[in-house]
Amino acid sequence: MPAKKRCQFQGDQKCTSAVLRIVGHCPHCSADFCGNHRLPEHHSCAHMEDCRQQAFNKNKAKLESERTVASKMAMT
Ligand SMILES: [Zn+2]
Ligand SMILES: [Zn+2]
Repeated sequence: MPAKKRCQFQGDQKCTSAVLRIVGHCPHCSADFCGNHRLPEHHSCAHMEDCRQQAFNKNKAKLESERTVASKMAMT
């Protein structure tokens, strides 16, 4: 019998709850969590971070293209 897995939530305090079988597994970061931390937003999922980063980059690119247009307009 393998030892009972502990929730892999890494917060201010380590979670010591046992993981939920199957539903406790996060497919995004392939870690296992307890019932309190199984949702991506509850364990600050690495995948969520990627999504946020992608949105951030997209927004940044948009702002930069807008700025380029604005500076072109300023030159004319
Ligand atoms: Zn937990
Ligand atoms: Zn996750």
